[in-house]
Amino acid sequence: MNAPVILWFRQDLRLVDQPALVAAVETGRPVIPVFVLDDEGPGAYAPAGASRWWLHHSLIALDASLRAKGSRLVLRRGHSADVIAAIAAETGASAVHAVRHYEPWHKQAAADIALRLPLHLHEGLVLCPPALVLSGTGSRYRMFTPWWKALLHHMPPPKPLAAPERIVAPAHWPDGEELAQWALLPRQPDWAAGFHDHWQPGEDAARQRLRDFLPHLGRYQEDRNFPGIATGISRLSPHLHFGEISPALVWHLAAREAGEAAAPFLREVGWRDFGINMIDQWPGYGWVDGRAASSGFPWRQPEQDAEAARDLRAWQQGLTGYPIIDAGMRELWATGYVHNRIRMLVASFLVKHLLIDWRHGERWFWDTLVDADYGNNAMGWQWIAGTGFESNPFGRIMAPLGQSEKFDCGDYIRRWVPELSHVGEPHVHDPEEFGLRLPGYPAKIIGHQQARARALAASARLQKN
Ligand SMILES: Cc1cc2nc3c(=O)[nH]c(=O)nc-3n(C[C@H](O)[C@H](O)[C@H](O)COP(=O)(O)OP(=O)(O)OC[C@H]3O[C@@H](n4cnc5c(N)ncnc54)[C@H](O)[C@@H]3O)c2cc1C
Repeated sequence: MNAPVILWFRQDLRLVDQPALVAAVETGRPVIPVFVLDDEGPGAYAPAGASRWWLHHSLIALDASLRAKGSRLVLRRGHSADVIAAIAAETGASAVHAVRHYEPWHKQAAADIALRLPLHLHEGLVLCPPALVLSGTGSRYRMFTPWWKALLHHMPPPKPLAAPERIVAPAHWPDGEELAQWALLPRQPDWAAGFHDHWQPGEDAARQRLRDFLPHLGRYQEDRNFPGIATGISRLSPHLHFGEISPALVWHLAAREAGEAAAPFLREVGWRDFGINMIDQWPGYGWVDGRAASSGFPWRQPEQDAEAARDLRAWQQGLTGYPIIDAGMRELWATGYVHNRIRMLVASFLVKHLLIDWRHGERWFWDTLVDADYGNNAMGWQWIAGTGFESNPFGRIMAPLGQSEKFDCGDYIRRWVPELSHVGEPHVHDPEEFGLRLPGYPAKIIGHQQARARALAASARLQKN
């Protein structure tokens, strides 16, 4: 009975509603909580810039929570299966408990471990395991609306589990690495210096953020499209991505607070499960077009085309001459986050106005978002690019200047583009149109009508071929 069990943490960095933790504790054996920094298995999808900042602080918070229960977090680096097997060999651990994950590299790591040790996977990442959400004929969905209706038959999700009172420690702890040695935080330059003004990683902060948002739930439907309304959205995405709060807990607390009025918000939380449903079925969705007909689209490729490379840089740096796009890209750099409406606008601008392959945008978001998430990011980009199974047709081109005015983005622009901080309405949305030349602010990289015509011509070329 003294052989310990390993509790393998991944994107589930919490103690409340942590089914793998509860199962490990219920064995009655000592528990060894482990986090493995595995940059090999995920390859290009290893946690990148902003995510590493979050991860650093989230691991500190998790270790503190574990210590309050008599335990601690063991940190190791390397190939997940090798590390877990090595810890089992060092400690005599008899089994591994973990939450089931759906990213292809996480599935592979679990399969590799299961070849060497008894591995118990527990659901806890999703509202409902994706393989259970089926049509009447027993097939999986690729479109959101019918999938959502089917998901609702499985709702509410299981009642959240309380964190255990105590976690039995092993007689001898295996060696761990020092978090500081992992150098997850940026230095020279410290581009994340401002992140603390916007974020506090960790499960206590995640639950606090949800509590702060709950009183505004009733206005979510009206306010969620306006980037300037701070209470319009929850900003829970990085907490959900790192599993600092479970979607089931979000569901139950939102439903308790607002009843039926929580439905529009819970539907958006459902999109996260839908993204997991997509990558579970199409593991390459992060880089392979969903619609085969989209492959061969004549994207401009920055690797081979100096002008496209210049345009990509202007987009990344927020120097396109389109105030709403530049505000969004600068906010992203400064805070690691942008509002969904702005994500749609900047993504659309890259793929339609600049005609640059959506995969370049996916990569930039992967590096700069604190909530960079394989399923959600892939789904967002493929939706905007018109390449996804569920997507906005390519020919439907968002007009960034009109959207900026419609969604009341004047203050948002003035905040993030200092060159325009003194420009009033309606000029701030499109100063060039009003003949304003602002010192230091670039002219439009391409005119809206010209970009639109170029995008539609490219789309027509694809259809002809
Ligand atoms: C091009 C593009 C890329 C994106 N990349 C990511 C990403 O890497 N990571 C990420 O978490 N989201 C991504 N999204 C989805 C969405 O923009 C964010 O989830 C949302 O803006 C997060 O803010 P919030 O937590 O305040 O959301 P809220 O509106 O408060 O919604 C609550 C939760 O529901 C989920 N959610 C809401 N909208 C969506 C959506 N459209 N798709 C999937 N889940 C959703 C999120 O988990 C979110 O935290 C992307 C969208 C686009 C258009």
